[in-house]
Amino acid sequence: SGGAAPVLVTGGAGFIGSNFVLDWLGSGCGPVINLDKLTYAGNLENLASVEARADYTFVHGDIRDRALVDRLLREHRPRAVVHFAAESHVDRSIAGPEAFLRTNIDGTFAMLEAAREYYGTLTGEERERFRFLHVSTDEVYGTLAPDDPAFHEDTPYAPNSPYAASKAASDHLVRAWVHTYGLPALITNCSNNYGPYQFPEKLIPLMIANALKGKALPVYGDGQQVRDWLYVVDHCRALRAVLELGRVGETYNVGGGNQRSNLDVVKTLCALLDELAPGSKFAPHFGLVQFVTDRPGHDRRYAIDARKLEGELGWRAEESFETGLRKTVEWYLGNAAWVEHVTSGAYQQWVAENYAGR
Ligand code: NAD
Repeated sequence: SGGAAPVLVTGGAGFIGSNFVLDWLGSGCGPVINLDKLTYAGNLENLASVEARADYTFVHGDIRDRALVDRLLREHRPRAVVHFAAESHVDRSIAGPEAFLRTNIDGTFAMLEAAREYYGTLTGEERERFRFLHVSTDEVYGTLAPDDPAFHEDTPYAPNSPYAASKAASDHLVRAWVHTYGLPALITNCSNNYGPYQFPEKLIPLMIANALKGKALPVYGDGQQVRDWLYVVDHCRALRAVLELGRVGETYNVGGGNQRSNLDVVKTLCALLDELAPGSKFAPHFGLVQFVTDRPGHDRRYAIDARKLEGELGWRAEESFETGLRKTVEWYLGNAAWVEHVTSGAYQQWVAENYAGR
């Protein structure tokens, strides 16, 4: 690591955060401090390949713990905070919104205040270089009609779910900390991610896990909801570009230009499983599809206009939906134990035993 300044990552044991940590360390970008509370969505198994490295440090804790975050900033003097930690699942936010307000809003507020205080102590090159990168979602923009243009950075906010509202609130806080206090922050709003290490409550890994067990594949409503899919590694590369080259105070939309209806995604997945899991006694897997009552307030369509990121920072999504989905299915087929572990509760039990009282 050659004395390079680290980045402080929050939520680095989650789906995108762990992909980011692996990508950052794998690309030789410098050391990582990973602060994560290890909720049901946090999984240290994702990071087993780097846990012994000297340039990787895991800290178990809550982003709302100001004393802890202050100490980490003081001791490690990061060159950036990359803020992923959040409650992230829309269905959970409908069933129980409170945790979303606590972590996504209060937690972001605590991180901003800690970063502001730390930034105030920096001088010279350290101060020039410091960035606070807030990782957010396209769901803050609400829903699109079939013919509407894709979301761009100036699209008005219109969040529809408790999850989206809590992320929108956190984005507004970040914006205000830039304008009011001069915190050098940036915001990225990204479309639906997919890829390795995604918790099997989300569409793609849920469908894979269910199909392999011969369980029903629950499709909401008519399945015609459209999402703009991005392979998670492409998202991580976009975040690196924004950290290095992005203009302070700016928002960048991140998207893969892959609009697909949920039903199309399930169809493609089933065809891939038929091909890649030929021994499965549940093929053809599409026969397992079952239409279920739509999610209340379900947004019909999201689509991202990523031209600002592409034009200003030269980023391009490298993975097509077809190649990315194939890699993803292959990863889940090759990591059945990971899926079994997180879905059986064995991992949560391990957390309770190993981090009890901490
Ligand atoms: P995730 O649910 O997989 O991971 C969240 C991580 O945050 C977990 O490791 C969890 O333990 C940790 N965490 C939760 N509350 C915490 C707290 N109070 N203190 C410390 N750690 C805490 O989420 P993800 O899908 O990886 O998403 C990461 C970020 O990216 C989120 O901010 C999300 O809004 C955003 N995002 C996600 C997507 C997507 O498609 N998944 C798309 C765009 C933006």
